[in-house]
Amino acid sequence: MKSNMKTALLLRSLFEAYYRENDIPTPPHFSKREFGFMLWDREGMIRHKTFYSRTEFLTFLRKNVPKNAYRSAAYYLDPEAQNMEGKGWVGADLIFDIDADHLTTPCKEIHDRWICMECGTSGIGKKPARCLNCKSTVINEISWICDQCLNFAKDEVFKLLDFLFDDFGISEKEVKVVYSGHRGYHVHVDNEAVRELSSDERREIVDYISGTGIKVENLGLIEVSAGGRRFIIGPDLTSEGWGKRLVKSIIKVFSSPDLDKVLIEAGIPKRKIDILLVNREKIVTALSSVPSKWDILQGIGISIWKNIALAAIKKIAAQVDEPVSVDIHRLIRLEYSLHGSTGFRVTPISVTDLERFDPFKDAIIFKGEKEVIFKEYCPEFRIGDEVFGPYQKGQKVELPLSAVVFTLAKAVAELL
Ligand SMILES: [Zn+2]
Ligand SMILES: [Zn+2]
Repeated sequence: MKSNMKTALLLRSLFEAYYRENDIPTPPHFSKREFGFMLWDREGMIRHKTFYSRTEFLTFLRKNVPKNAYRSAAYYLDPEAQNMEGKGWVGADLIFDIDADHLTTPCKEIHDRWICMECGTSGIGKKPARCLNCKSTVINEISWICDQCLNFAKDEVFKLLDFLFDDFGISEKEVKVVYSGHRGYHVHVDNEAVRELSSDERREIVDYISGTGIKVENLGLIEVSAGGRRFIIGPDLTSEGWGKRLVKSIIKVFSSPDLDKVLIEAGIPKRKIDILLVNREKIVTALSSVPSKWDILQGIGISIWKNIALAAIKKIAAQVDEPVSVDIHRLIRLEYSLHGSTGFRVTPISVTDLERFDPFKDAIIFKGEKEVIFKEYCPEFRIGDEVFGPYQKGQKVELPLSAVVFTLAKAVAELL
């Protein structure tokens, strides 16, 4: 038997035991949802599936043991119809996707690798446009996950939740955070008011949350002339929405030990940075007062403040993947299913548990041990409290089953 087939069979049998031993909950309003599945032995996705009873749903999972399972964010009159017109769209939850893949994290340069499919040359970090050796463009990327990138993703979830609660008045019980089982988190908003929003309206929400196209002039940060003198005015802590957020963020930046770094990144000239650093406390006090006082420093004009404001906006804007929120027919990962690229469980988390949620522990379900051989270099990874690797190509190791499943599913190892 070919080794990749043996791997698929082992993974399938482990997934089968999981679906047999666990009563996977149905998602809310499940009979109005479309479901989609990927199986082990065929390409592509089975879509347009629906279930009319919980028993039917559980029986399907146990019989077909999907490699990946999805369900629609939308509700339909006829979820089984083969095209979108026929389905009768009645609404959709508002979904946000935060994916470590789309975030700039320093760990990518350590744990991501590329391999040229033509000549076998490999390297670390993001894949180059062309192979450094043979110039081929057929290059495979092995993107890894670690605590750092998943923590970056979690920070973005917290930023997003802040917008949802503070600016959109959504309550904690209307929000569900779901660990995707791989590189990120999904945030589901299930509330009457969002259900019928169009794609364009959803895009506006994403633009607001991600600070896309924000003009600081529109938040009130401007230069005015009065009595033959020019001075700067701006929002304060009692302003609405982004105005208040901007002031809070600048205060935070000026209270942080990284202030000089932020100012350099914002492109502020060295002489001006010196003025700002010396006066940091004065600035915090001036912006914390209501109304705020922006025009307190000689030599710090409107253009400097605008650059600082843009850097401060970047700090608190949430980086969400726009197409996922905008697509009102999108299929998203089924809660409590297993992710075919890791064997980790797609895990819902309450907002209060999010801070302590640990994907390398709380989404792990397999127990036992097996021996594997590595067919690619495998970067370090953690499962529970144990750190594994790095492992070299050709190395044979006995690993706990959850680590076996992870390395097989990530396609860096095979069973011995
Ligand atoms: Zn090459
Ligand atoms: Zn990482």
